Amino acid sequence: MEDYLNQHGYISGHYPQSIDLAQIGGLVATRSSGQFSTKYGNIENLVVGFEAVMPSGDIIRIKNVPRRSAGPDLRQLLIGSEGTMGIITEITIKIFPKPADRWMCAYGIKNMREGLHIIQTFMREGWNPAVVRLHDRLEAAKSYSKFLNEGESILLILSEGPKMYAQAEGKALDKIIRDGRGRSLGPEPVESWLEHRNNTDELHEFTNQGIIVDTIEIAANWSDIGTIYEQVTERLKKEVPELLLVTGHSSHSYPQGTNLYFILGAHPPQDPEGVERVYQSIWKKVMEITLENNGTICHHHGIGKLRAPWIPQELGSSYTMLKKLKRSMDPQGIMNIGTLLPVNEGEEKDAQSIYSCY
Ligand SMILES: Cc1cc2nc3c(=O)[nH]c(=O)nc-3n(C[C@H](O)[C@H](O)[C@H](O)COP(=O)(O)OP(=O)(O)OC[C@H]3O[C@@H](n4cnc5c(N)ncnc54)[C@H](O)[C@@H]3O)c2cc1C
Repeated sequence: MEDYLNQHGYISGHYPQSIDLAQIGGLVATRSSGQFSTKYGNIENLVVGFEAVMPSGDIIRIKNVPRRSAGPDLRQLLIGSEGTMGIITEITIKIFPKPADRWMCAYGIKNMREGLHIIQTFMREGWNPAVVRLHDRLEAAKSYSKFLNEGESILLILSEGPKMYAQAEGKALDKIIRDGRGRSLGPEPVESWLEHRNNTDELHEFTNQGIIVDTIEIAANWSDIGTIYEQVTERLKKEVPELLLVTGHSSHSYPQGTNLYFILGAHPPQDPEGVERVYQSIWKKVMEITLENNGTICHHHGIGKLRAPWIPQELGSSYTMLKKLKRSMDPQGIMNIGTLLPVNEGEEKDAQSIYSCY
C-alpha cells in the first residue's frame, strides 16, 4: 500500500516497525502506532471509515466523512477490539501528500529526565515533528557510541512537510533542545536509525541461546513518566535476579505525555516452568509499576491474552462498559475468547460459562 501511494505522490504516514509483516486489519484491530505517529497520528486518527462482519453475520459499514456529531464514534468499537467484537474487512484511511522536505538532527542528552523534559517543552508549545525518539544511555551506547560522550542518552528528531515548514520547525526545535542542554550531533545518527529501524535480526542470536527477549510498551503523563522509567529500570534489576538487561526509549509523544518502550533480556533456568516464571515475573513488575504510577499498561501492542489479567485494573470503573459491550456484540461468545477480557482457565466452554466469569 505504501509503495503504491508513494508512486502516486502520497504517503500513509503509518510505519510500524512490523510494516513488512502486519496486515492493515491487524494494525487497526490492535490500535497500532507508526514510527512517525507524533506528526501523523496513531491508527485511530487515520481510519476514517470501514466495513466489518459482526459475530451475527451482519455486515456493517461506517462511511467516510471529515467529522460527525451523530452520537458516540462507532469506529472506536472495532479499532483496538483485537478480533473480539467483529472482523474488519475493508478500511478507508487518510493519506498525505509526500513531504517535499526533511530536517533531521540528533542530540546528546545528559539523562532520560532531562530528555523527557525537553520533549515535554516542545510538545506543549505545539511543535509537531514526525519522529521524536529519546533512547536511554544503554540503547544509545549500543547504536550511537561513536557520536556520544560516556553515559549520554540520545534524542533523534525528524521534521518533515512543505519546504519552509520543515526548516522552520527544525530551527525552532534546535533552539529549544540546545536551551535544554542538548548537544547537537548533526543528522548522521538519524540517518542511521532510518536505515536500520526495522532490523530485529540480532534478537534471534539471544533467543537461540535460551535468553528471553521481549519488549513492553506503556504510556503516562509527563508528571509520572520519569518515575516509571526509573522504577522499572532500577527495581527490575534488584527484584528479578535472572534479568540481564533492561533498556528504554520514548518514541511516541503528545502534549500531555509520552510512551516508554522497554527492551528486556533475562536468562532463566532452562526448563519450561523456569522460563514461564521469569517471563511472568518481568511482565507483572512492569504492569504493577505502571499502574501504581497512573500509567496505561499498553501504548500500542494491544492487550491480547498476556496483559488481559490487568485490564480490570487498567479500566477501573469503566471495565463494566467493556464487559457489557462484549456480551451484546458477541452474545454467543465465539470471538477470540480470553483476548482483551480475561477468562479463567477451563471456563471458555460456552457463552454462559464465559460470561459468568466476567
Ligand atoms: C518485530 C515487531 C515490531 C512491531 N512493531 C510495531 C510498531 O512499531 N507499532 C505497532 O503498533 N505494533 C508493532 N508491532 C505489533 C504488530 O504490528 C501488531 O500487533 C500486529 O502485527 C498487527 O497486525 P497482524 O496482521 O500481524 O495481526 P495479528 O497478529 O494477526 O492479529 C492481532 C490481533 O488482531 C486481530 N485481528 C487481526 N486481523 C483482524 C481483522 N481484520 N479484524 C478484526 N480483528 C483482527 C487478531 O485476532 C489478533 O487478536 C510489532 C510486532 C513485531 C513482531
